[in-house]
Amino acid sequence: MNEFKADLHCHSTCSDGSLTPEQLVQHAKNLGFQGLSITDHDTIEAYNTAVPAAKEAGMRLISGVEFSTTLDGVSVHILAYSFPLTHPEIINLCQKHTVRRQMRNRAILEKLSKMGMPISEEELLQVSPRLNYSLGRPHIAMLMVSKGYVPTIQEAFKKYIGEGAPCFATGEPFRVEDTLRIIHEAKGLAVIAHPQLIQDVKTLKNLLEMPFDGMECFYGNFQNQDSKRWIKIAARKNLIMTGGSDFHGKIKPSIPFGCSFIDEKTFEILEKHYIANQ
Ligand code: AMP
Ligand code: FE
Ligand code: FE
Ligand code: ZN
Repeated sequence: MNEFKADLHCHSTCSDGSLTPEQLVQHAKNLGFQGLSITDHDTIEAYNTAVPAAKEAGMRLISGVEFSTTLDGVSVHILAYSFPLTHPEIINLCQKHTVRRQMRNRAILEKLSKMGMPISEEELLQVSPRLNYSLGRPHIAMLMVSKGYVPTIQEAFKKYIGEGAPCFATGEPFRVEDTLRIIHEAKGLAVIAHPQLIQDVKTLKNLLEMPFDGMECFYGNFQNQDSKRWIKIAARKNLIMTGGSDFHGKIKPSIPFGCSFIDEKTFEILEKHYIANQ
């Protein structure tokens, strides 16, 4: 038997990943993984097809989602796990994010149009014809490349739609506190996503005072040395030490599935919680 490995952070075509939920399950299995959570941005749509696919493949799958929030104007991603997939509060929050994204995408497209780079809302919807629940900047960046406005997705972010760039729009803010409350109302576990990416020291300090259940100590291509820092903090705060790759497929080819993962002991904490919640 292979060593047990679970990747708790990856994206499907329901947000900005390039593999469908079924393909993700198969990809995980082919790479020898036995546990998985699909954490699309602001949607749990993947689970409609991922649950039967995982059952068939013998993959241990737990619910997950990556919520976009802000704290004092700083963008913060929160991972939620082990909530019931039918919980109305989670479904409601995802629906609110769909509306937020529609409005925000419109604002970004308007700014791009003013700079001579028109993209219509119809064109954006067609980038993800199968599902359009969680369209965002990566999809806009792909269109900017295909229309010849920029040579690469990276450049689209750097010059135009990244935070602080001229065509960036924040959209309606969702507070960390409110998202945490909803996750806990749904009996889910709330995890601080990729703490490495939180540049602002005060933001991290404030997050650590909030009622999170876990911290993503093992993330993407970050090396062991870096994980040690987060393991130390998580141990001190009694947080579950989660991990995952943040695999997006073709959109971010430098990050392979499973480049960060967790062991069975940690997976079982979340899995038990998930099963008890159903
Ligand atoms: P959104 O949720 O619409 O704000 O888009 C955020 C997503 O864009 C992130 O989850 C990343 O997948 C992607 N992203 C952010 N910055 C970059 C970048 N510089 N290059 C490529 N993708 C990026
Ligand atoms: Fe993403
Ligand atoms: Fe993220
Ligand atoms: Zn992610």
